[in-house]
Amino acid sequence: MIFLFIGIAVGDTGEWPARPWSEAYVYETAHYTVRTNTSPAAAEDIGALMEEALGEYRRLTGYYAEDLPRFIINAYATKEEYEAVAKKQGFPADITNGLYTPVPPAAIHLPYVTDQGRNPAATLLHEGAHQFIDQVMSFKAPAAARDILPASQRSLMGVPLWLNEGLATYMEGAITDDGRFEAGRVNGPRLKHLKRLIRADEYHSLHEVMSRRYGQQFSVEDYAVAWGVVYILDHESDPKGRPDKQGSLQRYLEACRLGFFTDPAEGFSREFLRGGKLLPNFESLWAAYIARQSPAFFQRIIAGKGVTIEAWEKNWAKKIRQIKLEASRR
Ligand SMILES: [Zn+2]
Repeated sequence: MIFLFIGIAVGDTGEWPARPWSEAYVYETAHYTVRTNTSPAAAEDIGALMEEALGEYRRLTGYYAEDLPRFIINAYATKEEYEAVAKKQGFPADITNGLYTPVPPAAIHLPYVTDQGRNPAATLLHEGAHQFIDQVMSFKAPAAARDILPASQRSLMGVPLWLNEGLATYMEGAITDDGRFEAGRVNGPRLKHLKRLIRADEYHSLHEVMSRRYGQQFSVEDYAVAWGVVYILDHESDPKGRPDKQGSLQRYLEACRLGFFTDPAEGFSREFLRGGKLLPNFESLWAAYIARQSPAFFQRIIAGKGVTIEAWEKNWAKKIRQIKLEASRR
């Protein structure tokens, strides 16, 4: 088995024989706590990669507040150890690359091995985006609702499914063939897939993809579409990483963070409370609400006045077809 570390490829020389998880190395960076039973060098590499990635999560989302939570990453030496953890958390057996779970203690879990040519660094960047979005970009329930919501629901996901996966797949493209981190690159496999879908006119409309709810199926075609929307949005806006210069993607994400409300306290009460009580089926109502606002706000903030999502989509498909694989840098 070959362990591929970020930046340096290290064979399984036996220099660091895998230890049991109970004796995992712990490495702390400014924002991440990395636990791994592979090697101390792997722990440091993961920490360094994720600190770089964090800068990119912030630039992409336009979220620069300083008070970040600690982000936890568990990197297992073998697939078997990882799969046992995933199974215990109730995840299906086919999530083999890695996962992020918001259930406390919220953490990323992944096998730190190269599997079928997939570099674990790509998985780290993908799951790291979900972690950032969940722990930083979620909607904080207003004071009036805090007491009646169970603790696990005081922070609600306002970033729609398509955008959550779009940002994650965009980030996973940032690993070069030789294992370096290079933000803004084309995600080769997603681009190829998407071009094929567009040529054959075999994908669901943007409106449909943007209306998917959490808990609903999100197909591999939908991933390609979501990737392509985020790619075009990031390459066409020019916020230059400055908090005071937000592009349309960042403005859209800010609307998501506020639960698509102009006044979150008033809006949340109006939509979800009756006589001081939460509506029955609150969770599924919330998911439906986000899925409904998602295309509506896309039209308003991103497509713009008088431009339908369908018209925006036509233009978008044309631009995707023109992207060259080698045109990787932003
Ligand atoms: Zn994902």
